[in-house]
Amino acid sequence: MNQHPIIIKDSSLVRIKAEKACNCACSDLTVIESFPASHFEFSKLEVKLNPELHSMNLDGSNRVVYVTTSDCGTNSIVVMNDAAWNILIAFLRSEQNEIETDFHHWCRQWSEPVVTDFLARLVEMRFLYPSPRVHSSIVEQRDVLESWLHITDRCNLRCKYCFLPHLPVDMSIDTGLASIDSIFRSALAHEYHKIKIKYAGGEPLLRFPLILKLHEHTKRLGEFYNIEYDGIILSNGTLLTEEIIRNIRLHHLGLMVSLDG
Ligand code: SF4
Repeated sequence: MNQHPIIIKDSSLVRIKAEKACNCACSDLTVIESFPASHFEFSKLEVKLNPELHSMNLDGSNRVVYVTTSDCGTNSIVVMNDAAWNILIAFLRSEQNEIETDFHHWCRQWSEPVVTDFLARLVEMRFLYPSPRVHSSIVEQRDVLESWLHITDRCNLRCKYCFLPHLPVDMSIDTGLASIDSIFRSALAHEYHKIKIKYAGGEPLLRFPLILKLHEHTKRLGEFYNIEYDGIILSNGTLLTEEIIRNIRLHHLGLMVSLDG
């Protein structure tokens, strides 16, 4: 019998649990705590190979495989044998029926539990991405509508890697209020119980008075419609003063300081 697909060395899965309090830039949609094999119904599974996947041949039969992007602190770097690699790259083919044929072939070769466990691990390590249809069966139903408001394009810093053009462009109060009204319309239409708004930039603390106005407006609407609300400022932290911190506390805003842009 051919050798089973094996992950020989797994120095990966540096997993920072995506807690509710996590307000990083990753979308909640990417959060998969685990992907137990019991959820693995291949006939319903549509998966895609992570486009950021890379590999390096080690000694002809083993490979280092890794992804260059991460979701919520999860990275995967592993060494796998040839059988494992051949299963993984089969997903380069996009046709579902071809994968299904392969799947039955693998199951005959190594048994179904071995193959499903291995595929589940590939999903956990973000090497494979299940389709939204599969996500919905394994990810807790989300009831939080999360939105970002780009308060300003301006910033007091000039990080080399910053993707913003730093134009002197600010969000107007009218645009901000209209955006929040629109977020509530969506929340009501889709029966969300909670809204989370991230006030971002540029450096949003350059427009702190605007944030406070938008925050108060959102709180009022939340109370009126009985929709919970969390407001979070995403800042580089360099403009924080005692007065701003006092106000952030007073108005029950959240603050997330990013050290790397
Ligand atoms: S702090 Fe953020 S917005 Fe400002 S320059 Fe750096 S990366 Fe860009």
